[in-house]
Amino acid sequence: MPFVHAPRLSFRSGTIAGHRWALLPSAAGFVDPLLSTGFPLTLLGVSRLAQIIERDWESPGLATYARQTEDELLATSRLIGALYASMGNFPLFVSLSLLYFAAASFSETARRLGKPLASSFLLHDNPRFQMQSILERARRVRNEAESQALCDEIRRFIEPFNVAGLGDPRRRNWYPADAEDMLRAAPKLGASREEVAGVLDRCGFSAAG
Ligand SMILES: Cc1cc2nc3c(=O)[nH]c(=O)nc-3n(C[C@H](O)[C@H](O)[C@H](O)COP(=O)(O)OP(=O)(O)OC[C@H]3O[C@@H](n4cnc5c(N)ncnc54)[C@H](O)[C@@H]3O)c2cc1C
Repeated sequence: MPFVHAPRLSFRSGTIAGHRWALLPSAAGFVDPLLSTGFPLTLLGVSRLAQIIERDWESPGLATYARQTEDELLATSRLIGALYASMGNFPLFVSLSLLYFAAASFSETARRLGKPLASSFLLHDNPRFQMQSILERARRVRNEAESQALCDEIRRFIEPFNVAGLGDPRRRNWYPADAEDMLRAAPKLGASREEVAGVLDRCGFSAAG
């Protein structure tokens, strides 16, 4: 194929589901590749639709699916928007990116543990992970002191969900896959150290280490 110039890739569909039909999240909208959100959003959608089909195709489930899909798309767009807006402020950009990494690693670990702690993308429906005010403040940061204060606040904000040692200044933004981070975070996931060790084992992590 010849190279093409597509000036605008993002889109949002006006209707996501109707009588006996639904768009997958990847057809419902697209924000930006920055956080690689395509696969997880699509897989969440596939698993939700599978449950709806299994239970009752006629139920109001499809309307709920459409709302969840749209809400998560918008939550993704707000985070990506704040990241683009802070590209001139590297420490703030890094801190904002931790919101994504904290939510993603917490959700994926909870899922593997079989704990129903993270049913929505970016922990969107978790009342303790409401990023809106942080994202709004990120756009209004005027000086280094305000930026630093917000970075500190983000680190405190993610802490209850931080299962990967994120924000540790000694790591200088380089995060290894360290089993000890997850084992230490077991209580945050409502799990024992043994349960987390079991997940690492099942995933082949211990064998690989
Ligand atoms: C260049 C690029 C890079 C990406 N990088 C990432 C990334 O790094 N991380 C990430 O999370 N997401 C990424 N994505 C997004 C991700 O690929 C999509 O969100 C995801 O693949 C959507 O899955 P899907 O099953 O809905 O659609 P698709 O993967 O597009 O699958 C649809 C399938 O249906 C087939 N098909 C279409 N019409 C018909 C028909 N009439 N009959 C039979 N078959 C048909 C197609 O051939 C295709 O195989 C990227 C996307 C692109 C384009």
